[in-house]
Amino acid sequence: MKVSVDPGLCYGSAECVHRAPSVFAFEDGYGTVRPGREDTEDDPLIREAAERCPSQAITLAVAE
Ligand code: SF4
Repeated sequence: MKVSVDPGLCYGSAECVHRAPSVFAFEDGYGTVRPGREDTEDDPLIREAAERCPSQAITLAVAE
């Protein structure tokens, strides 16, 4: 599963970082995907982080 954060949408609530700190980090006031963690296992915490992102900045792409 590919995880990405759209920096143009994220407004820095940091909720993703609290929900799934192994994948998301907080840098310069915005949420980012940790380097090397863009490709992750399917994880309910990551799905929840994406669903609950208040600006819908997190995209999950499932590999076919
Ligand atoms: S939850 Fe969404 S808006 Fe908040 S820091 Fe993460 S990506 Fe940005």
